[in-house]
Amino acid sequence: LAVPFQPFRDTVMAEREQLDVDVLFVGAGPAGLSGALHLANLLRKEKQNPTGGGTGKLPAEPSIAVIEKAEQVGFHSLSGAVVDPRALKELFDPFPPADSPFTNPVIKDSFCFLTGKGKYRFPLLPPPLRNHGNYIASLGEVTRWLAGKAEQAGVDVFTGFAGVDLLRDGERVVGVRTGDKGIDKHGKRKSNFDPGIDIRAKVTVLAEGPRGSLTKGLVQSDHLDQGRNPQVYSIGIKELWELPADRIARGEVIHTFGYPLGGDVFGGGFLYTLTDRLLIVGLVVGLSYRNPRLDPHREFQRFKLHPFLRKLLDGGKMVEYGAKSLPEGGYYSIPKPTVPGLLIIGDSAGLLNAQRLKGIHLAMKSGMLAAESILEALRRDEYTESLAGFESNLRGSWAGRELRSVRNFHQAFSAGMWSGMIRTGIQMVLGGRDLFGDRLPMHEGYRRMRRLEPGSPIGPREPIQETNGRLTFDKVTDVFHSGTKHDEDQPCHLVVSDTQICRTRCTEEYGNPCQHFCPANVYEMITADQTKSRDLQINFANCVHCKTCDIMDPYQIINWVPPLGGDGPQHKKM
Ligand code: SF4
Repeated sequence: LAVPFQPFRDTVMAEREQLDVDVLFVGAGPAGLSGALHLANLLRKEKQNPTGGGTGKLPAEPSIAVIEKAEQVGFHSLSGAVVDPRALKELFDPFPPADSPFTNPVIKDSFCFLTGKGKYRFPLLPPPLRNHGNYIASLGEVTRWLAGKAEQAGVDVFTGFAGVDLLRDGERVVGVRTGDKGIDKHGKRKSNFDPGIDIRAKVTVLAEGPRGSLTKGLVQSDHLDQGRNPQVYSIGIKELWELPADRIARGEVIHTFGYPLGGDVFGGGFLYTLTDRLLIVGLVVGLSYRNPRLDPHREFQRFKLHPFLRKLLDGGKMVEYGAKSLPEGGYYSIPKPTVPGLLIIGDSAGLLNAQRLKGIHLAMKSGMLAAESILEALRRDEYTESLAGFESNLRGSWAGRELRSVRNFHQAFSAGMWSGMIRTGIQMVLGGRDLFGDRLPMHEGYRRMRRLEPGSPIGPREPIQETNGRLTFDKVTDVFHSGTKHDEDQPCHLVVSDTQICRTRCTEEYGNPCQHFCPANVYEMITADQTKSRDLQINFANCVHCKTCDIMDPYQIINWVPPLGGDGPQHKKM
C-alpha cells in the first residue's frame, strides 16, 4: 500500500477552508508540544536579540499550530511512565517549574525475575534500569501541562483534528488535510457534515506517535526506510489501580521479566507508584512472537495472577485501562526523517531506547532539534536544504548517541530472552557492538509468526473466570475503563483491504490472530447460522488506538486510519 487506503473520502467533494500557518505540528504528544514550545521560545529570543544572519526573512508574527486527533490534549497519551528529565531541563530552567506534574521522583528501584510463583530480586540493578533522578508521571498530565505552556508562548493547539492526508506540491510537503466530520457509515454526508481543512504550512512536523498513519504512508511512498532496518514494535498494556491506604509508597519502580511470558517472547512487566494510592501495572509484549494464539491482553491478566501482584492488588480497584504500541527497533530502524518541507520526530521516527524502556526524553529532544532546524529554514526562507541537516543533528545529539549505544539491543533477543540478556551485557562492554557484528539485521515482527499446528482451536480465548471482574478483566470491561467512544455511524477506521483472506487463508494458516492480538475485542470471526460460513466483524467503536493490528497482521491487509476527529480513548491519568 503506497498511501493509507481511505475509500470513504473519495465520495466527498467539498469546498474546503484553508488555513495558512508557518509551522504545523501533527500530534500533541511530548515530541510535538516540546518542538512547538521550543520554536516559539527561539523565535521570541531571535526577535529580541537577532543572531545567525538577522531576522530579515523571519515572518513578523510567526504562526505555530499543533493539531491533535483527541478531543482533549492527553486523552490519547499513554506511556509507563518513568521520565528522564534531560530534555525537560533544557526546555525549562529551573526544572521542575513550580506548576509541573513532575512531583514524584523515583526513590526506590528494583528489577525482578518472576517464576510462576516466585519472585527473585536482582541484587544489583543493571545500569540502564537505574532510575534515580527520573520521575514517575502520567503522560496525559505531562502533555496537558506542556500544551498549556505552549499556548502561553503563543502556539495554537487545535484538538479534535486528525491529519488524514499530506498536501504536496511536487516533492515538497506543504501541509496537511484534516479529516471530514459528519460522514455516515456508508460514506455519505450527514446533516452535520463539516469538510476537513487544508492547513498549509512552510514546515510540517509529523509527531503522530508510534505507527502514525501519515508517517506510514509517507515512509512507504517516499521509500524513507530504504537501507534502514525495518521498524519493530511491542504492545504495552496498562491498568491504573487505586489501592487501600498504606499499601504502597510514592516513587517506587519495579521492572520484571519471566512470568507470564515464555523465554521466546520479548517483554516484561512494570509497576510504578504514581501516588500513595495509585499504582501503575503494565506488561510489554514484543510484537514479534511466534504463537499466533498468543493474546497480549490475556498475558497481562495472567501477570496479575502472580502471587506477588495478587497480594499487592487485593482489595484495590482498577480505575483506568489503555494500550499502545512502542517502536523498539532503535537506531538502525529510524527512517529518513526529512523530506522537503517536512520532519518526522518522536515515536513516529522510532525514537525509543528499548533497553531503558524510555522514549519521552528522546521524543522531546527530537522536537527541540526540529525546532532549531525550522528556525534556520525560516531565517533562510528555504525548506529543503535547511531541514535536511536535521537527521545528522539528531544522530549527533545526546539523544542520537544514547540510541547508538544500544543500537543492537532488540536484535540480540531474536533467539530468546536469556541469550538476549547475555548479549546485552556483552554489548554494554563493547559500546553497543554485538559479538556478531556492529549492525545486526532486523525483521518485521509479523514475519516471525508461525503457522497454526493442525487441529489447533481457532476461536477466541476465554476470559480467566476465577478472578474475572475483581483482579482480572475481559477486554470489553477493560475498554470501558479506557473511556473509549466512537460514533458508530461513521466509516470503519480499520480498513481491511481483502476480507476474503480473513475467511480463507488466515483462518487456515493462523486461526485469525487479530482476535487475539487486539486488546480491545475489535475483531471477531462470526459464524453465520445457516451457511456456517465465517466472516469478520469489526467492532471498531472499541478501538483503543494501539495500532497493534496494523503492525501484527500477518498479511498486512489491515490499515489503521484516524476515525472522525475527537473519537477514541479518553485517558485521564495514563
Ligand atoms: Fe489496537 Fe487495532 Fe484493536 Fe484498535 S483495532 S485496539 S488499533 S489492535
